[in-house]
Amino acid sequence: METGIKMRVSPEESKSIQEIVFANGGQWAGRDKEVQDLSRPFLFLNDQCNLTYSYDEETFKDKWFKEVPAALFIETDGTCGAQQLYVEISDLKKRIFEKLEKLEKLREICDHVFESEEQDPDNRYKACIKCGQLQDVES
Ligand SMILES: [Zn+2]
Repeated sequence: METGIKMRVSPEESKSIQEIVFANGGQWAGRDKEVQDLSRPFLFLNDQCNLTYSYDEETFKDKWFKEVPAALFIETDGTCGAQQLYVEISDLKKRIFEKLEKLEKLREICDHVFESEEQDPDNRYKACIKCGQLQDVES
């Protein structure tokens, strides 16, 4: 769960946020885990997962916590994008594996061409200029 944050909230958003915080091990400062104080327009969530609230804009602006849109916190179940990033990385991994599979198939049918001039003298392998397949020079 994202912490060290502050949010402008409607009563409905406050309720959803409190439920997410409680479900992730947080509580109101003072150990209370009851949905309450829905009329307070500003919420703070510190690094110990303690919720506090404020009535006034000045207190909200002065607080050094990072401001996060309430809707983002709610939509991402309190992760504020870390979950979205995880989805994107998973998708990227899938696409990389698909490309590697295609490359493996290409290598099975490639009649490899190894150009010795391109070879690094310190490297005992050289690569096919068509598919990148490595060949052990000493074999
Ligand atoms: Zn090849």
